[in-house]
Amino acid sequence: MLFDGRAAIVTGGGSGIGQATVVALATEGAAVLVSDIDEEGGEAVAAEVRDAGGKAAFMRVDVAEAGQVEALIDRALSEFGRLDLAYNNAGIEGPQALLAEQDMAAVQHVFAVMIEGVYLCMQAEIPAMLESGGGSIVNAGSMWGLAAYPLWSPYMTAKHAVSGMTRAAALDYAKDGIRVNAVAPGPILTPLLLRGWNNDPTNASGRVPMGRIGRPEEVADAVVWLLSDKASFVTGHVLPVDGGMLAEKG
Ligand code: NAD
Repeated sequence: MLFDGRAAIVTGGGSGIGQATVVALATEGAAVLVSDIDEEGGEAVAAEVRDAGGKAAFMRVDVAEAGQVEALIDRALSEFGRLDLAYNNAGIEGPQALLAEQDMAAVQHVFAVMIEGVYLCMQAEIPAMLESGGGSIVNAGSMWGLAAYPLWSPYMTAKHAVSGMTRAAALDYAKDGIRVNAVAPGPILTPLLLRGWNNDPTNASGRVPMGRIGRPEEVADAVVWLLSDKASFVTGHVLPVDGGMLAEKG
């Protein structure tokens, strides 16, 4: 299996793409520390992995809180003795409004979760990975971290920041055995997408060249590949998983 003997962290692992990635990593032999602010969802995913014979534990962590992120890495090291893999996935859709009409408290919350949250996770994960002899990080970007869409400026801004910090971190640690990449999903059928599109996924699927929205497992497969040694010469890459949407934008 791809990840025998390796230990992983997935933030926002209690739902959607994070949940599918937890299952995919565990299926490939990784021990996974699932984290989320949603205790019920996160515990259920960890239990699903254990029931299938895999290794998983859950910890409630808000990625916007530096102390909680540090505690997450400490728990991975105490639970598994090492940290090799991380998928920094926790995210929210944020408010929709014209930029000048956005409420700054809500904007700052989006930035705290998706900019500072991913940054804090990398800051805590990298020293633990260096201690473990190297590692691989994937951040949850978005096709909206490479292009833009009206009325969602907090989300667009945060995801562009994720693209940038992924490339910057990749260069900082390129010689140290740590690869850092991001996935850039298009519309994927998850609770986040349904909230953003008023429970009507056809609103999103009509814009996709492939004529459908994606499944969480299709993103999880890309995350697994980027995290694995099969992507051993890939770092600083932001990989679209978008049914062709960015190809159309040029
Ligand atoms: P989701 O809502 O199904 O799952 C997100 C998870 O993150 C939830 O379990 C939620 O509780 C958790 N979370 C939210 N805030 C958190 C915080 N502060 N700390 C810890 N956990 C927190 O959403 P999803 O669609 O699976 O999204 C996962 C990631 O993929 C997000 O970063 C999202 O922006 C990104 N993404 C999603 C899509 C899509 O179409 N679904 C497209 C592009 C990118």
